[in-house]
Amino acid sequence: MGIEPFLQGQPLSVGLTGAERDAFTRTTGNLMQRGSVLALRIRDVDGRVVFDAANPDAPPGRPIFEPSVQTAAAQGMVSSLTQVDDDGFAAGPNSGLPVIETFVAVHSPANPSLVVGVVEISVPYEPIAMQRDQSLDRLRFAIVIGLGAVWLVLGIIVASVTRRVRRQSKRSEFMALHDTLTGLPNRALHADRVAAALASAGRLGTDVALVVVDLDRFKEVNDTLGHRNGDEFLRIVAARLTGALRPGDTVSRLGGDEFGIVLPGATPESVEGILRRLHEALGHEAELAGVAVSAEASMGYAMWPLDAETPETLLRRADLALFAAKTARSAIVRYHAGIDEFDPQRLSLIAELRRAITAGELILHYQPKVDATTGEVLAFEALVRWLHPVRGLVPPNDFIPIAESTGLIGPLTQWVVDSALAQLAEWSLTRPELSIAVNISARNLRDDLPGWIINRLANHRVKASQLVLEITETSFATDPVRATVLLEELHAAGVRVSLDDFGQGYTSLGSLGHLPVSELKIDRGFVVAMQHSPEDRAIVASVIELGHQLGLTVVAEGVETEEVFADLRLLGCDTVQGYLFSPPVPARDALALMDRVHVVV
Ligand code: C2E
Ligand code: MG
Ligand code: MG
Repeated sequence: MGIEPFLQGQPLSVGLTGAERDAFTRTTGNLMQRGSVLALRIRDVDGRVVFDAANPDAPPGRPIFEPSVQTAAAQGMVSSLTQVDDDGFAAGPNSGLPVIETFVAVHSPANPSLVVGVVEISVPYEPIAMQRDQSLDRLRFAIVIGLGAVWLVLGIIVASVTRRVRRQSKRSEFMALHDTLTGLPNRALHADRVAAALASAGRLGTDVALVVVDLDRFKEVNDTLGHRNGDEFLRIVAARLTGALRPGDTVSRLGGDEFGIVLPGATPESVEGILRRLHEALGHEAELAGVAVSAEASMGYAMWPLDAETPETLLRRADLALFAAKTARSAIVRYHAGIDEFDPQRLSLIAELRRAITAGELILHYQPKVDATTGEVLAFEALVRWLHPVRGLVPPNDFIPIAESTGLIGPLTQWVVDSALAQLAEWSLTRPELSIAVNISARNLRDDLPGWIINRLANHRVKASQLVLEITETSFATDPVRATVLLEELHAAGVRVSLDDFGQGYTSLGSLGHLPVSELKIDRGFVVAMQHSPEDRAIVASVIELGHQLGLTVVAEGVETEEVFADLRLLGCDTVQGYLFSPPVPARDALALMDRVHVVV
């Protein structure tokens, strides 16, 4: 750009014209002065220097062979990194400086494809290198900062993810080991706590009590107040249990309405007191959906190491004790050897019993209640049996307690009442004055009982006065107020109520007059024993006496011998029942029995 336009066309080898030299001196002088170019020479194609910007007025030199000139002439341009004085020219103060030496072909102004010479330019390398280094430094800096930022961001992400994962895994670990409803340890953690408590008690030489608590009427709360209130109720129970214990004790929720408690350091002497306190704490009324409710609970417990040596047996035995508490309807029961009859294997009976009720495996046997003076059969007591496909005929004492502790007693009693009334309806065709007695459990004393019974009587077209409900004295005593209300309703409808196994409980004789009962059934134990024991005879005598004064019919059950029968007649007993007359028999044998019993006596 600075050379070609000024060439006037004469060959370079003869030297420059004055005008050319002036033009070149002008265009290049500035560059040289500023130092942005260290050397600038124009050569002809033989390498002869025809213009040197460092010395503009010098005449053309000799031809010098310079390979770069030849290459630039052929290729248009060549450049290399070299030193100022590499090409043999005196370099003065710049000697040895690194430069970029570039050779560019110069073309003839008349014929642009003809190369007439070459311009040689040396540009100092240092500023370029510096610039390059600076931009490399900047690049490096940018990379370092960029990577640093990336690492920082990654670090923050990783840290927060780790934190979240850790928090989540802690949460899921907590959830795996705790009950979501109450926040208490669950069954799995409970087993761990038991094992840990035993290990540490082993070192300290102390005892551990393991308690299982089961709420008595939780199902009712759930059914009547709804599941949400049921849940709230469980939370209240959990809080009461936790609140009534010491910090070192553990309360866990084992499932449903069952809780487990570990009491490290408790002694056989102290534990009953603690449990009574728990029982009381649970019994305090709480308001739920505007209704005052209180929790009643059964508790079973076993002591380590006295009752069991390993955590597994301890857990199982506390469970057995609870089962015994439920069956015996006592609030607190400690494990003892005799309890093993409540082996959980019997629990499999529950599932079978549920099926048996609908599968027609239950049958009724009937035992006559005989008029003590005339020998007439007045009534039959319906007694349930289970015709088990494998076990054969199972007596009621083997499955009624299970039915009572599981709620199966409801459907069972309904089946018994329905079947007995159907049977009575059939017998009434020939024996219109015959009555039927059925046994009712304490657990059957629910508000819907009277309505249901009255409905069934109507359904079977049986008079209310033909039905006797036998309820044991002890089950009457569990909730006398409720029992009185319900039985009064039935009594008013004409249904008769008999107080079964009388003498076993402690019904205050004073209250007997106010109860809606029409019959007292003296417990078999006294009747069997009266033959040899004057005390038992005295009891039988006074029950008969008392019953009569209150206007009640008195029945003696368990009459096995003629002597006892004779004695009972002497004492004025109204009705008798027992093997002497007949054991309970299937329905098809009962009618024939009526005539025979009548004849025998
Ligand atoms: P319970 O109501 O006191 O019935 C009398 C029990 O004494 C019956 O036993 C009967 O077979 C037995 N027995 C009758 N006469 C004699 C005798 O002379 N000597 C002796 N040693 N025993 C005699 P079972 O049938 O095994 O019933 C036992 C208990 O099971 C009944 O006592 C009753 O409490 C209960 N039970 C039976 N059926 C039902 C039922 O349908 N529902 C309910 N809730 N309980 C029932
Ligand atoms: Mg009975
Ligand atoms: Mg009885």
